[in-house]
Parts: sequence; structure tokens; C-alpha cells
Amino acid sequence: MLARRRGPGVTPPPILEARDLVKRFPAGGGLGLGGRTVHALNGVSLAIAAGETLAVVGESGCGKTTLAHCLTGLTTPSAGRLLLDGEDAAAMLRREPMRFRRRVQIVFQDPYASLNPRRRVADTVGDALRIHRLCPRRARRDRVAALIAEVGLGEEHLDRFPHELSGGQRQRVAIARALAVEPAVVVCDEPVSALDVSIQAQVINLLRDLQARRSVGYLFISHNLALVRHIARRIAVMYLGEVVETGTTAELRRRLLHPYSQALFAAAPEIGRPPGTARPPLSGDVPSPIDMPRGCPFHTRCPHARARCAAEAPALRPVDGRMVRCHFAEELSA
Ligand code: SF4
Repeated sequence: MLARRRGPGVTPPPILEARDLVKRFPAGGGLGLGGRTVHALNGVSLAIAAGETLAVVGESGCGKTTLAHCLTGLTTPSAGRLLLDGEDAAAMLRREPMRFRRRVQIVFQDPYASLNPRRRVADTVGDALRIHRLCPRRARRDRVAALIAEVGLGEEHLDRFPHELSGGQRQRVAIARALAVEPAVVVCDEPVSALDVSIQAQVINLLRDLQARRSVGYLFISHNLALVRHIARRIAVMYLGEVVETGTTAELRRRLLHPYSQALFAAAPEIGRPPGTARPPLSGDVPSPIDMPRGCPFHTRCPHARARCAAEAPALRPVDGRMVRCHFAEELSA
């Protein structure tokens, strides 16, 4: 049952596993907007194994960042389970939060906002070692210097403040801080989208090198579809808080089955694609996660929608070597 949910091609055993995660917020941040509810995640299941990259893609507002926060213990799911090394993560976060945080780290989109502007690089990275008691004080600076070297910075950066670094250097410091505790999984929440294009490839190559050396698993959240096809072994496509299609990158490159995945990837620019041949983005607005459509959440924009789509929500199920959430996936793939 569980293996079916994870989808084909997963290397067992998973380190971090989400089972039917649900997250709801009061609309208006709890200001009492008529007791209405934001349905941010609506039953997301996925798993990350050692040394692999799972990419999560979708339009803004699809729940990617809420998922990242649930997976890293920064927010508590409303329902569903999170397992770390097969153990219940909610219980671990209550009783031994440091043990969870040593295994699961996060790299945020904006390195400037995620670094303390009053802490030097040596202190920012050293704090992770100090808090987790991973290194005696006298050896800490050498350990930090080694970590900083591993992310491509030098000893001359150790005593700098974040404002004295470039955007790419700041993200390297954030990565060093995450890796200081030797995590098994790092959730990368749009880690290069705030960087200049010329720097993005350097940071991506750094993440790949670190993964090869340390066998760390990445959950890589991105709206850059060309990028995820390049770096991820598996891809999960999200729409309105649900995974609508997931499988190996090779399978999804061969053919996409869900109408939303097809539209999303067809609209993306890709290296080698002749200019002007990308399809226009999807028409229509993403429905509000407060007023979720009945039936298939995509039916208000789907070019293949029929009467059944507005009445009955499709389940995520195996079709042609991947998992798809569409009543008519076989027909559409024919
Ligand atoms: Fe489109 Fe219907 Fe499939 Fe939803 S279930 S993706 S509306 S065809």
C-alpha cells in the first residue's frame, strides 16, 4: 500500500517520509475572516531516500513552501504523519527536537534574510556546531574553516558579516550552516531563485558535489522546470495542495500524463527548444485555496474536463510507470 503511494523507482528505505500530510490555516492569519480556512496541503505523500533528489514543482501558491515547512518541523501538520528513519517525527520533535534537526535541515530562498546580519560567518556556522555539541570549542574554528572551504569559500570570509558577501557567497554560507550538523536530508526551498543567473549554476553544481560526497538527500523545491529536469531523479508536480503526478525524471521526460503537468512543462523555456515554441501558460486563475473547487481541483482550468471531473475528486493512482491524479489519465495518454 505504502510502496504504491511512494511511486515507482524510489530507492528504499526512505529517510524522511510524508504520509497524507494536511495543513490548514485560518484565513487572514487568524484574524477571524468568517471562520474560513486555507487548505494549503490536502494529503501529500512522498519519501526521500539517501543520496537522491526529489524535486517538487508547481505554480506559486500550490503549497510547496508549506510542504517544506511541514517536512522540516517549522510548522505542524493539521493531519497525516511525518516519519524520520521510520520513527514518528511529531513525537521526536516534542521530545528530542535536536535529534530531528540534526537529521533534517533547510536552505531558504533568500540567504540574506536567513542569516543573522550581526553574526560573522564563523559564528553563524559555528553556532550549529555549538548548539548540537558536535565540536569542542578549541577545534570549532578549524571545523568551520573546513566547512567553508567545502562550499567554495576561503578563510578570508570567516570574519565577514552577511552584508560583506555577495548573494552567492551568502547562499554558500547558508549551505555550510545546514551541512555543519551532517544532516541526512536537506530541504532546499527555491535555493537559487534569488541569485543572479550566472551564480545559479555554480550553487547547483555545489549542491550536486556535496550530495555525491555526503550522500545527503535533497527535497528540491523550484519553479524552474528546466533546472529540476537537470538535477532531480524524481519529480512531484503539485497543484492546489495536492501531488497530481509523480515519477522518475526519466519517465516524466518521456511523457507527462496529467493535463496540469503537460501545461506547466509545455510553457517552460528549455535549452534547445526553438524560440517561441513554448506553449502559453495556462489560462485562468488558480482557484483560491479557501474556496477549493469540488471534484478535481484542476477542473476549472483543465482543457479535458468532463462532468465527472466537477463531481468526483480523482485519487492518485499508478498509470504507465508513475502516479497520476486524473480520472482519464489512460485515455489522455493513448
Ligand atoms: Fe482534467 Fe478531469 Fe483529469 Fe482533473 S480529472 S485533470 S479535470 S480530465
